[in-house]
Amino acid sequence: MTLRVGIIGAGPSGMAQLRAFESARQKGAEIPEITCFEKQDDWGGQWNSSWRIGLDAHGEPVHTSMYRHLWSNGPKECLEFSDYSFDEHFGRAISSFPSREVLFDYIKGRVEKSDVRKYVRFNTVARHTTYNEETQEFTLTVEDLKTNLTETHVFDKLVVSTGHFSVPSVPEFTGIKSFPGEVLHAHDFRGAERFYGKKLLMIGSSYSAEDIGMQAHKMGAASITFSYRSTPMGYEWPENCVERPLATHFDGRTAYFSDGTHDDFDAVVLCTGYQHKYPFLPSELSLKSANVLYPANLYKGVVWQQNTNLFYLGAQDQYYTFNMFDAQAWYARDVMTGVIALPSIAEREANIQLWIERLAALPDHNAEADFQTDYLRELIAATDYPPFDLDAVSQLFKDWMHHKETDILGYRDMLHRSVVTGTMAVKHHTRWLNAMDDSMARYLNGPSQEVDTSTADVVDDILAVR
Ligand SMILES: Cc1cc2nc3c(=O)[nH]c(=O)nc-3n(C[C@H](O)[C@H](O)[C@H](O)COP(=O)(O)OP(=O)(O)OC[C@H]3O[C@@H](n4cnc5c(N)ncnc54)[C@H](O)[C@@H]3O)c2cc1C
Repeated sequence: MTLRVGIIGAGPSGMAQLRAFESARQKGAEIPEITCFEKQDDWGGQWNSSWRIGLDAHGEPVHTSMYRHLWSNGPKECLEFSDYSFDEHFGRAISSFPSREVLFDYIKGRVEKSDVRKYVRFNTVARHTTYNEETQEFTLTVEDLKTNLTETHVFDKLVVSTGHFSVPSVPEFTGIKSFPGEVLHAHDFRGAERFYGKKLLMIGSSYSAEDIGMQAHKMGAASITFSYRSTPMGYEWPENCVERPLATHFDGRTAYFSDGTHDDFDAVVLCTGYQHKYPFLPSELSLKSANVLYPANLYKGVVWQQNTNLFYLGAQDQYYTFNMFDAQAWYARDVMTGVIALPSIAEREANIQLWIERLAALPDHNAEADFQTDYLRELIAATDYPPFDLDAVSQLFKDWMHHKETDILGYRDMLHRSVVTGTMAVKHHTRWLNAMDDSMARYLNGPSQEVDTSTADVVDDILAVR
């Protein structure tokens, strides 16, 4: 009987799984019967952005945490697919830090070329899963959000690719309930224009805090205070930014910090991270993890330890993204189809523990980039995913982190070289700090494009105060 594979989620990870099977098919392999369920009406996951907050048109939680004016926060050369380069997609060299729409176009370009959309059931949400130990089959209940009808599907292998940056972690702070201004989690942040002239408190010290803070600066916020729990980010911030240790409590619009300082704010953004949540899985199949580079219980970061018919893609914290999802999808494919034979559960556990021990000893971010590089190296060596110069990519990560340290507002203007094609990125026509239109048309065609007047007004106001 043909192998039946279910994929939940058609973001970059789910798309990578579709592409992995397609690549095998093109090489003459017989591929399984594949069905991918995606709750949104298009693929692309986080990159398929929405203006909505809270619930979507079907009453489902809005998935994306992305926002207007989101530009890649790492060099595109670090995430380039080794079987589909930026040069191939755009037909010319582009800058190293494109905007969301440009990257969305790139990831769509590869899968659209290979006719895999037919496998995806859009507007269909995974609701419930059971596993029958005897028959070794998953029964997945999904709901068609257009008809509200539920269906059940039976699979031999199940791939979970639903992402883990969608369900906010929201801590409590004494007094925050009566804070008179806006309080929101980064998941619900859609654009910084409304922080113009405002005093902003960002709670958190990771990518979201840094990027939303710098968006707010770019859009003319009066001041930005970053409150960290353990370690300050330590960048050379613009003059209107400051870092404070953890906020202990609020009284009215005043926030108090653990170093004894306090200040008044107009708005608070909780950049306090996300939870791994898989409400469609029973607890024994559901990954419980913090956002770490090597979650326990996943052999090779992909195969569920207690049930090797279950696979997770993109479940770890991410230096690498699209190309790592590819390497994982190729590996998962080969395990599913028996091309790769898994070792015993004890050997798998020993391997997981080795990685976790190494992770615990990493001294800094450079070592983390090397760690994930080695992880990818191992995955790629096990499959026919086209290899690329991983050491060069690791160096790109280090250069990028160094650029951030020296110029947090300018690192996106730096240029990097593709390890796939050797092409050097070209300078974007507008510095990131002054780029107020993140559309693909403007990105590709330059400032001569007509700007809609509302955008032009915002740009004028902001540039006038700079
Ligand atoms: C604010 C933000 C900025 C980021 N910036 C960058 C960046 O600049 N560069 C970079 O490389 N990465 C960035 N990332 C990381 C980003 O998460 C990855 O690039 C990538 O989107 C992860 O892909 P994924 O497919 O694993 O998950 P997602 O992109 O989250 O996709 C998961 C998919 O699963 C679907 N889904 C969820 N639940 C169900 C269900 N029950 N049934 C059916 N479908 C379901 C969702 O609708 C979604 O389409 C950013 C992330 C965030 C949140």
